[in-house]
Amino acid sequence: MTKKQKKILIRVIISAVLLIALHFIPFGDRWYISLLAYLIPYLVVGYDIVLNAVKKLIKGRLFDEELLMMIATVGAFIIGDYPEATAVMLFYQVGELFQSIAVGKSRKSISDLMDICPETATVVRDGVEEVVDPYEVSVGDIVIVKPGEKVPIDGEVIEGNTTLNMAALTGESLPVERGIGQTIFSGSINLTNVIKLRTTTEYDDSTVAKILELVENSTDKKSQSEKFITKFARVYTPAVVICAVLIILGCILFTDMSISDSVYRGLIFLVVSCPCALVVSVPLSFFGGIGAASRNGILIKGSNFLEILSKVDTIVFDKTGTITKGNFAVDAIHPNQVDADELIDIAALAESRSNHPVAESIVAAHGKHIASERLGEVSEISGKGIKAVIDGKCYYVGNGKLMEEVHADYHECHLPGTAVHVALEGEYLGHIIINDEIKDDSKEAIAKIKDSGIKKTVMLTGDNEKVASKVASDVGIDDYRAGLLPDQKVSSLESIMSENNTVAFVGDGINDAPVLTRADIGIAMGALGSDAAIEASDVVLMDDSLNKIPVAVKISKKTLRIVKQNIIFSLVVKIGIMILGALGIVGMRFAVFGDVGVLVIAILNSVRAMRVPK
Ligand code: ADP
Ligand code: MG
Repeated sequence: MTKKQKKILIRVIISAVLLIALHFIPFGDRWYISLLAYLIPYLVVGYDIVLNAVKKLIKGRLFDEELLMMIATVGAFIIGDYPEATAVMLFYQVGELFQSIAVGKSRKSISDLMDICPETATVVRDGVEEVVDPYEVSVGDIVIVKPGEKVPIDGEVIEGNTTLNMAALTGESLPVERGIGQTIFSGSINLTNVIKLRTTTEYDDSTVAKILELVENSTDKKSQSEKFITKFARVYTPAVVICAVLIILGCILFTDMSISDSVYRGLIFLVVSCPCALVVSVPLSFFGGIGAASRNGILIKGSNFLEILSKVDTIVFDKTGTITKGNFAVDAIHPNQVDADELIDIAALAESRSNHPVAESIVAAHGKHIASERLGEVSEISGKGIKAVIDGKCYYVGNGKLMEEVHADYHECHLPGTAVHVALEGEYLGHIIINDEIKDDSKEAIAKIKDSGIKKTVMLTGDNEKVASKVASDVGIDDYRAGLLPDQKVSSLESIMSENNTVAFVGDGINDAPVLTRADIGIAMGALGSDAAIEASDVVLMDDSLNKIPVAVKISKKTLRIVKQNIIFSLVVKIGIMILGALGIVGMRFAVFGDVGVLVIAILNSVRAMRVPK
């Protein structure tokens, strides 16, 4: 509990004790003494609410819950029901206290994540270690990270090797090993050895800063349910005030009730009508759901996306880098006219500036020095390959489509795998066969995805039919479309979207940004260190395991279930009490108790959203 919450709790206790004590004092007909006496516990517990209500009244904000409370309680004082007025204020304050504790708790779950923020960085300048603010470290500085410390800024290890805990980033608690030449991300915790790294970004562009920005902005994007509640409250409150006035007038005109009894009925109606249980619990549930997801290394960019995710019935996957590892191994080199070494030299040189998984794998398989001075203009032809000028001559490296485009007389290979063909102008030089591996957990993840209630899975790929059908059947994907160019991926996705309700696309952000954006919801994986993925998607999986997807789906479904429960429960109970109150069956105290009770139950229910479903 915060200091402020403790103060409110103390006021609540004092006021409750006074209220009970006053109950036993016989005031007789000295009403003014009784009024003054009850005003004490009333003001002890509610002075700030009365002040706020008056301030809002002056500003012209008429239909506010605090104002509603003030009207109801002042009304009760005017008609002479002092204990009632005090009790109402007391209950209301208890509800508020509860609400602030719950909101605080879910904020804390997100700020636990904020805990990944390093406060200092140890840089080495002119051979001297210096502890500085991470903001003062520039790109290329040497930073020392000792065991137990957080990595302050993204960088490349230049000395030492160690194990790191990246749980705050990926949700994965198994430690990972990193050594010289490898990149490590800010927010990971160094577990075992001292390491030195050379920073590769500014603090502001580091992984931690990006995650925090995402999480902070996520509450701005409102879900349909939240928007509905806000609109609902706007219409509902004035409607209820009008109803209350009608009830009072009706009782005075058409029954033989006294004026004060009539006003009392109207007031009961007003008190119960306060929509705070909904206004508070719905956003709180979404907040909890987003928090639960982020603790698992799943960043959801807004509650609207959590809502869409819960409705997804079809998931479309990219192949390379998403279902497969994206590390191709060279299986065979089949040269025509040139020798094998020359073929792979040309291919590696042409690919050396591309970050496509095919390109990186060929460069890695080549393994030798890249003579980049031989390289002229290079252009990437999306979904097909590369056009590169080497020694002044124009080479093409890519798939069959690219060969057709340049009229090279290529032939498909009998070996399984992806063929990277090479041509000099229109002259065919041969091909390299590469094969990708399926990620270890892809098959298991697809099964879990189906278990979580997703009806259909589809794979889209630019790779050839043979490879596509093997991968799809190996991991258990229902359907696939192969040989697609990037724009054909978009149109395939659109046709899938027209046949199904809500479609998610999962990609790694490398050349699938258009599809990620076009889908009802775009999920990017392997986002650690990839800006493109973070930009284009709505849901970001920090690591590249498909296993996060069923978890995300479950969290979203659970959150939405809680939201629905709260909406239905609050409305049913409130409407019930309103009717009972208007008929004079229940009094004010019961009404307030019911109201606060609904609020507390709804809040407790939404707190459940913070827990991750097993
Ligand atoms: P995916 O859908 O599997 O992610 P892409 O659309 O990126 O694949 O590419 C489709 C195909 O185009 C690849 O399978 C490969 O044959 C070819 N290709 C794309 N980029 C390159 C490249 N840089 N070098 C060679 N081939 C490439
Ligand atoms: Mg891809």
